[in-house]
Amino acid sequence: MTTIGVMGYGQLGRMLAIHGLALGVDFRFWDMRTEAYFSVLPPHDSPVATGPEALEAFLEAVDVVTFETENVPHALVDRIAHRKAVTPSAKALAVCQNRLAEKRLCQQLEIPVAPFFDIQTEAELQTAFKTLSGEMIVKTVTLGYDGKGQRRVTESAQISAVWAALQDQALIAEKKVNFQFECSLIAVRDHLGKIVFYPLMQNEHRSGILYCSQVMSSEWRSVLQPQAEHIADQLLSYFDYTGVLAIEFFVGPEGELLVNELAPRVHNSGHLTIEGFDYNQFEQHVRALVGLPIHTPTLRYTYVAMINIVGQSVDPQKILQFPAAHLHWYGKSVQPNRKVGHITVATNDENVFSDTVTAIKQLVLPIDS
Ligand code: AMP
Repeated sequence: MTTIGVMGYGQLGRMLAIHGLALGVDFRFWDMRTEAYFSVLPPHDSPVATGPEALEAFLEAVDVVTFETENVPHALVDRIAHRKAVTPSAKALAVCQNRLAEKRLCQQLEIPVAPFFDIQTEAELQTAFKTLSGEMIVKTVTLGYDGKGQRRVTESAQISAVWAALQDQALIAEKKVNFQFECSLIAVRDHLGKIVFYPLMQNEHRSGILYCSQVMSSEWRSVLQPQAEHIADQLLSYFDYTGVLAIEFFVGPEGELLVNELAPRVHNSGHLTIEGFDYNQFEQHVRALVGLPIHTPTLRYTYVAMINIVGQSVDPQKILQFPAAHLHWYGKSVQPNRKVGHITVATNDENVFSDTVTAIKQLVLPIDS
């Protein structure tokens, strides 16, 4: 039996294991916050080992190491790569954890991104604001996710406060994209180079956190899917990638795709693949990792959407009264801005779909409402 070691001990690792166990694959988890090694599904935390020997024990137990977050320190990845196969590769991880490296790679491959500046000083921030003419978003180059480490700048008077708040970290300033909407592509590549894609997901964020994802309409997909797959092909080949790669895009005013960021792992916008497709993103990632066949996924329902449960509890009775609704609870305590579960709505009936999504959005509010 192959054992996969997951770097991270959250819901993505949990869902990888839930779907991978059925394939006869075993799992171990490394919690980077506590430096502890677990053999039970997150978040049932009773570590097998903690302390200096824990990482060695974790590595001893696994055959291949993968990630549920890209924010794993270089030194740790290098140490692991000396001992075990790391998939996706340390090279992919190094780019995907650094916004500047991501954007520079896209430029090198002639993949469109929003105009940006590498920021070292407050004066550079002022120049960037003038050059980008209009609103800009200042982000930390590393460790940002779900809108963390980001500030919007709409007038130059805000710049000194933004600089004071973020200057300890490497920064990037991006032009605020006047996007029509956001979307993401989930791609899977196996170790032989076979690539399969999910249909594009259309995503709605609130306060920088994903609130809702939906399989994109076929009208938009006919325009955007070929562009997105071409971009993914280039990136997957460049990295000689194995596993799931998620690419987040802005859809610009002319219907053009701009890459926002890359995630070298299963992705929140792919959670709806559990009910929505014959092969879900978690199973495909595990298959790719252990050398089992991956397949082009097929939609099982005409209408599929996912709503994230962020920083609030929900009553399962109320959610599950809707036949088209499926509840996934991660077992985490409720904390502000914390993703604690999600709900998938999947059906072939257009009216049932819109009624169910509307009702669930009244029960599960976005965090900024
Ligand atoms: P990120 O962590 O970079 O994915 O940013 C989180 C969210 O903030 C995105 O999904 C967008 O909704 C918004 N955002 C980030 N960067 C930009 C940008 N350059 N232009 C417009 N909106 C942005």
